[in-house]
Amino acid sequence: MSQPRVIIVGGGFAGLAAAKALRSTPAKIILIDRLNHHLFQPLLYQVATSVLTPGQIGTPIRGILRKQKDTTVILGEVTGVDKARKCVFVSNADRQNVPVSYNYFIPGINEPGFTESGSRIHAFRLSGVFGAAPDAIVSRLIK
Ligand SMILES: Cc1cc2nc3c(=O)[nH]c(=O)nc-3n(C[C@H](O)[C@H](O)[C@H](O)COP(=O)(O)OP(=O)(O)OC[C@H]3O[C@@H](n4cnc5c(N)ncnc54)[C@H](O)[C@@H]3O)c2cc1C
Repeated sequence: MSQPRVIIVGGGFAGLAAAKALRSTPAKIILIDRLNHHLFQPLLYQVATSVLTPGQIGTPIRGILRKQKDTTVILGEVTGVDKARKCVFVSNADRQNVPVSYNYFIPGINEPGFTESGSRIHAFRLSGVFGAAPDAIVSRLIK
């Protein structure tokens, strides 16, 4: 039987945990993220308050998984999933909507948002290192 192929979308806590949990299996693991780094989101506040630099809370995903045999990291955005054909479509700066087939698909993405209506209107979310940078926050407040 050929090696099963597992596609994991997202190199956050969920995606990395899935990749690590599967490291001793015979599966070929392909982790796809639109960013090249894992972001330790709970420390975004420290970036926003200039206690830490963005580089201190971002770690290259390839570095984290470098010792895992049979694990490949692809830099790209998953733009769609074709469940019937068992493939995802991946776009990056070089190529658009390239199909990558899978036997097993693990979505490790999370798009939280504010649920309170007042928060939705008046607050803004710390979601990435660039959005959390103090100068980005100041420019949003000025607007
Ligand atoms: C400021 C802040 C503070 C927090 N503090 C805490 C805390 O103290 N305790 C706690 O338990 N939790 C905390 N959280 C929540 C916690 O960080 C998140 O629940 C957790 O990071 C979610 O992990 P995840 O792997 O599900 O998603 P994420 O970490 O969001 O990872 C998703 C990954 O998927 C990638 N991705 C998304 N869409 C695509 C796509 N279409 N194609 C390719 N890649 C894609 C993203 O680039 C990202 O790398 C905090 C969050 C924030 C923002």
